[in-house]
Amino acid sequence: MTQTTRSDYDVAVIGGGLVGSAIAWGLAQHGQKVAILDEGDIAVRPSRGNFALVWVQGKGLGLPEYAGWTKRSADNWTGFSAQLREQTGIDVCYERPGGFLPLLSEAEMEHRANQLKRLHNQPNVVRYDYEMMDRAAVAKEMPFIGKDVVGASYCPLDGHCNSLKLLRALHTGISLSGVAYLPNHRVERIEQREGGFRMVTASGEVRSGKVVIAAGHDGRRLAPMVGLDAPVRPERGHIIVTEKTAPFLKFPVGFIRQTDEGGVMIGDSFEDVGLDTTVRNGVTSTIADRAIRIFPLLGKLNVVRTWAALRVLTPDGFPIYEQSTSMPGAFVATCHSGVTLAANHALALAPHIAAGGLPDEFTAFSARRFHVPAAA
Ligand SMILES: Cc1cc2nc3c(=O)[nH]c(=O)nc-3n(C[C@H](O)[C@H](O)[C@H](O)COP(=O)(O)OP(=O)(O)OC[C@H]3O[C@@H](n4cnc5c(N)ncnc54)[C@H](O)[C@@H]3O)c2cc1C
Repeated sequence: MTQTTRSDYDVAVIGGGLVGSAIAWGLAQHGQKVAILDEGDIAVRPSRGNFALVWVQGKGLGLPEYAGWTKRSADNWTGFSAQLREQTGIDVCYERPGGFLPLLSEAEMEHRANQLKRLHNQPNVVRYDYEMMDRAAVAKEMPFIGKDVVGASYCPLDGHCNSLKLLRALHTGISLSGVAYLPNHRVERIEQREGGFRMVTASGEVRSGKVVIAAGHDGRRLAPMVGLDAPVRPERGHIIVTEKTAPFLKFPVGFIRQTDEGGVMIGDSFEDVGLDTTVRNGVTSTIADRAIRIFPLLGKLNVVRTWAALRVLTPDGFPIYEQSTSMPGAFVATCHSGVTLAANHALALAPHIAAGGLPDEFTAFSARRFHVPAAA
């Protein structure tokens, strides 16, 4: 194990998952000397177990700034993935054909239509196209839908990628950009020292001018050490992967998508079970039943893998990006859509951290929104 003592970096990013890696990559492109301190393979990491959507529709009901932030990231994705490919030679297989969310009853149609209308009626919300399609319109694009599909919502801004390749491209990119990746450096403590920060880790101490907490589930424990708050909780999601099959599905369809390698990923559960990644057969069969009602041909495919991973969720589901007021130079970044938002973390958030502060546009994402006194 490497002993790291008195290292000197402009920024230490705690966490080498999708959020920390994208930020570290962006910081390095802005000339910062960066270290990523990562716990290692034992960590609970949604970055390796997610569904890989770059998804816009439906995001931001309750926080219009989040709708704008999400759209901006999806818009940045084409350039971001091209930059990664040019630098690393890794194609993260990003495509933006638009996405459907199929609905199986008139009640579901009505609920979805209301949800999207309310989202787009919020004051100052970003405008973008979406459509509620009836069965005939959906069948024109996907003739193989099942008889139970009543319609779907559609948004041309939605897309998907290969998120394992994204993580690999980011790690290759940070290595090529001179970022020090320090595995087995679980941060136990963060202390403010001599105008900077001292991280006490499992493999020695690391010093830096700034620190970014992007440690997923452990953000909850680490953030208060620097006067910040990250009240995140785990939410389990199951994913099923089928055997590879000939390309049939050109769109990501809410919770069903065909990957660049030919397998079909199916994932659609939201379970409040703590830090538990056990796969439950009851949950996978419920997910599979709904998927087969949407695309009956899925019933003929063999399942080759199932897993469960834990989303990092804030109380309202929106991200937290914040700089500490008591210890300026310390930042927290945590969100539950780390694939979708990777482009913004690299291109729109990191430059501000490099410059030393977050502008007003980030105020909406402060954890202070959770600090309202309870009503009597
Ligand atoms: C089932 C499922 C489906 C999903 N689908 C999508 C999707 O389609 N689209 C989308 O945009 N998002 C999706 N997500 C969410 C996305 O995967 C996460 O937002 C993202 O992976 C979060 O990345 P992270 O870096 O914050 O966390 P993590 O992946 O948890 O990474 C945190 C890192 O911090 C390290 N760490 C933890 N504690 C410490 C410590 N004390 N010291 C040092 N290092 C530490 C860990 O080793 C880890 O590498 C999905 C998530 C799940 C679970």
